[in-house]
Amino acid sequence: MKHDNTVLVAGGAGFIGYHLCRRLLEEGVEVVCLDNLQTGSLDNIQLLSGYPHFRFVNHDILQPYTGLQHIDQIYNLACPASPPHYQRNPINTTKTCVIGTLNLLELAQMHGCPILQASTSEVYGDAGVSPQPETYNGNVNPIGIRSCYDEGKRCAEILCMDFYRQYRVNVKIVRIFNTYGPNMAVGDGRVVSNFIVQALAGMPMTIYGDGSHTRSFMYVDDLVEGLLCMMGTPDDFTGPVNLGNPDERSIKDLASLIISLSGSSSTFVYQPLPSDDPHQRKPDITLASKKLGWSPVVSLEEGLRRTIDYFRHYKQ
Ligand code: UDP
Repeated sequence: MKHDNTVLVAGGAGFIGYHLCRRLLEEGVEVVCLDNLQTGSLDNIQLLSGYPHFRFVNHDILQPYTGLQHIDQIYNLACPASPPHYQRNPINTTKTCVIGTLNLLELAQMHGCPILQASTSEVYGDAGVSPQPETYNGNVNPIGIRSCYDEGKRCAEILCMDFYRQYRVNVKIVRIFNTYGPNMAVGDGRVVSNFIVQALAGMPMTIYGDGSHTRSFMYVDDLVEGLLCMMGTPDDFTGPVNLGNPDERSIKDLASLIISLSGSSSTFVYQPLPSDDPHQRKPDITLASKKLGWSPVVSLEEGLRRTIDYFRHYKQ
């Protein structure tokens, strides 16, 4: 990227958005962050404000954004992604996925610039195959409590593909699998931050169901690298591409690992499994490796160590 390039990051005050903005700013480009602070945080904005080429605009993507004369790239990361957060106001979640993405696609069309859409492994729902390749069409309940997010993101993908086919907008779709790392909010509600916060406080760790469900956890720096690689692909490569770490673990094993890495004496407490909670999730990253030359490099143990350090420090 050239130094005078302007990159718009919608959702730049959130967990992934913060890390992406920081990486772009370190490369010297102008970053304009749009965020309505629904789940994004002013703490993240404050950290980014130290960079001279950073600008924050308090804006909800449900409204069209007209504040810039020139945009070189758009990243759409704007949507609550933690189940308790996206389920708090599910109608707003669907609107953000659909109307928000539509507004940003129109902006990309107007500026003739590429747009990267943060989609999700949730488009696979409670997958019937493992690992999940991009060619798997998913098994999503259209009327469940997760559907606002799952179906919202599926609809956003089709908007991207139709903007590409109908208007030749340069769209880039990535399906992001479970991601963790420093700067997750203490109250984020997803499993890694919940477990670390509980372990450090010596509180019981809340395992939903019997802990046999699996997820594959990717460290945030690996994801940011993948996002930049995807943005750098040729115009005719739209994806979707899976970005995830194929190292699959059960939730109970994750809890035990966090106990041992943090030196905690926490116990486990079993709580009911939320409905439609996918049983297993593991990305097939063959396409990312082939098209982006990308694969994750941070092990779960190393990534958790860094994340535990962050939360330990945050607590003080
Ligand atoms: N989970 C858990 N305890 C928690 C939070 C989550 O056992 O405190 C489980 C959840 O039921 C799911 C997995 O951990 O099976 C991952 O949940 P998360 O909310 O992090 O992300 P998801 O992949 O479900 O969107």
